[in-house]
Amino acid sequence: MRTPLIAGNWKMNGSLASNAALLDGIRAGVVGLKAELAVCPPAPYLAQVQSALAASGVRWGAQDVSVHDSGAYTGEVSAAMLGDFGCRYVIVGHSERRSYHGETDALVAQKAVRALASGLVPIVCVGETLQEREQGATDAVVTGQLQPVLAAVGADLAKIVVAYEPVWAIGTGKTATPAMAQQVHELIRATLAQAGASAAAAVRILYGGSMKPDNAGELLAQTDIDGGLIGGASLKAADFLAIAQAA
Ligand code: PEP
Repeated sequence: MRTPLIAGNWKMNGSLASNAALLDGIRAGVVGLKAELAVCPPAPYLAQVQSALAASGVRWGAQDVSVHDSGAYTGEVSAAMLGDFGCRYVIVGHSERRSYHGETDALVAQKAVRALASGLVPIVCVGETLQEREQGATDAVVTGQLQPVLAAVGADLAKIVVAYEPVWAIGTGKTATPAMAQQVHELIRATLAQAGASAAAAVRILYGGSMKPDNAGELLAQTDIDGGLIGGASLKAADFLAIAQAA
């Protein structure tokens, strides 16, 4: 039985004041939810989120992690530092990092390994662009992004979370239909199973891409959709909680 995970990716949004209001709203609505909730704020706000959510049952994480342990890597944040702030999760390989920061599949795999080594759960993002979908390359792209991660994490496979995020659906208001999303989630599950059947059954596969309160129920009802990675809708407590209630 996989506990659904609803994780909010705040991206580069927020301020001390607006975060405080958002966190108050989330805390107020979390009681009785069956899904696990997590938020991933920008790194400077991790201390604020840690102190606001410490006793709430809501978990938190980061949006990226360095592949390095420490040293002369200006601007980087290490997995151990994220651990110091109580992070449970870290997003790796988000499409915005792949496209704006040139992150390769190999680097994403290294980041997943580094996260696991520090006791963090990597949320590994995969997904095709619109052009790749139109060319019929979705399956090849998604499995191609996943394979290096599976090879790198080895026996730790059961500890990761995968997020299928079609790039064309992120922040656009366009969502994959539940059937389209399920088809890719099933493929991801089958790909994971080649690396270990029982681990594959335990891994949570999240859908991300314009998930909102009005489409969450149908998406989350699919057999292999075990939660959501939520961007825009995670910035409003009411919407984030409504998605969590649908899980
Ligand atoms: C995301 O950035 O991971 C995401 C899913 O964004 P949105 O929900 O805004 O499409």
